[in-house]
Amino acid sequence: MSSESDFNKITWQSENCLSCKWFFPADPINADIISNGKCLQPDLKKYSLIVTGRDWCNKFERITQRQIDRMQEKAMEAEKKQ
Ligand code: SF4
Repeated sequence: MSSESDFNKITWQSENCLSCKWFFPADPINADIISNGKCLQPDLKKYSLIVTGRDWCNKFERITQRQIDRMQEKAMEAEKKQ
């Protein structure tokens, strides 16, 4: 049996695009495994890939909490300006 708190634990889970430093979700504040986003990995960027948080590839590099915070702060600032 799962509860809402169990569900929350799947956000920013390990070893998928959501946890990769090259994933730029369309909505960084609410990003989860079903969110779409751009893959900006230098070798893959030319393909303009749109991936979801649960995708993965062998170019995976773990995102840091600091990068997540920075991305979310930037998105919140952009929301305030609207
Ligand atoms: S496709 Fe690969 S490099 Fe791009 S965000 Fe996903 S895991 Fe990272």
